[in-house]
Amino acid sequence: MTPHESDYVHRSNPNGTTDSICKSCFLTVASAIWEADLDSAEREHKCDPFRLKSLRKSVQRANEAAKSTSPRRMKQSLAC
Ligand SMILES: [Zn+2]
Repeated sequence: MTPHESDYVHRSNPNGTTDSICKSCFLTVASAIWEADLDSAEREHKCDPFRLKSLRKSVQRANEAAKSTSPRRMKQSLAC
C-alpha cells in the first residue's frame, strides 16, 4: 500500500461496486466493481481548492453555531 492510498476511504455498495472517497474533499472519486480499478482514479484525483475552501468555511460555521447553542444559552432561551 502506498501512502497515497490512505488518502481515500473505500465504501462497498449494495450493488457490488466500491466507492473511493477522498478524505480531504469528501468527493467520490470513482466507483468500480474491482477495488484495483479505483487506483488510477485515485492517482489522478486532485482536490478542488475552491471545494476545500468552501468545506473549511462550512466547518467553521458549524463550530460557531455549536458555540452559540451552548447549554447556558439554551437554558436562557427555554426560560423565555
Ligand atoms: Zn479530494
